Amino acid sequence: MGRKNKKSSKMTMSKKNYIESLPRELLIGIVEMIASYSLKDLVRVKLSSRVLNEVANEPSVYQKVILLRIPIFIWPCSVVRRCTSFLEMCRALGNLEALYRKGVCDIFKRSDSNELGILSQAANGGHIGASYVLAIISIFNGSESMREDIMFIANMTPLKLRRCREKLLYTLYGWVPEPHLLGERPIYCTVQSLHFRCELCRCDLEIDEVVKFLY
Ligand SMILES: [Zn+2]
Repeated sequence: MGRKNKKSSKMTMSKKNYIESLPRELLIGIVEMIASYSLKDLVRVKLSSRVLNEVANEPSVYQKVILLRIPIFIWPCSVVRRCTSFLEMCRALGNLEALYRKGVCDIFKRSDSNELGILSQAANGGHIGASYVLAIISIFNGSESMREDIMFIANMTPLKLRRCREKLLYTLYGWVPEPHLLGERPIYCTVQSLHFRCELCRCDLEIDEVVKFLY
């Protein structure tokens, strides 16, 4: 039994040494991949050795870490502090989900659609939820890019729309007690009688859904 334990501990050591001997770039790539799948596994990696902990602190790992498991609800103070500083670090290093949460929070808390910078950063990085929120705000405010934004919403699949809407609702539910957009609720399709559904109709239908939790 003792011999077996000794043998397995030797094997573990050699595996660990082998991993640590890999080129730094490759190690970073592996840890990035782990971070993008599971925050829990990333924490395990960080705790496993000094070298891997250093690798896990690379900016690119913070950019890729998945935050879905970090809920948006109110937590006990000590947890909130730890969690907030982690999220701030992620945001500072360009993590798209962290930028999205901060952007949504800033805009809907202050009801100031001029503060679109952080959300635009997330959208430019490819965060679909951020693009959705920016398009909805533009449609409500009748901004210059409104026509493009109507087409963007109209061309999204019902499933994508629902996911983006629910994500916004979930984020607001946790962080912003009384969210509201600027401006009146717009209606774009002026055709009164029954007609084949146009892009404007599809956009109006989505606005119908959004106003249910924003007013
Ligand atoms: Zn229509």
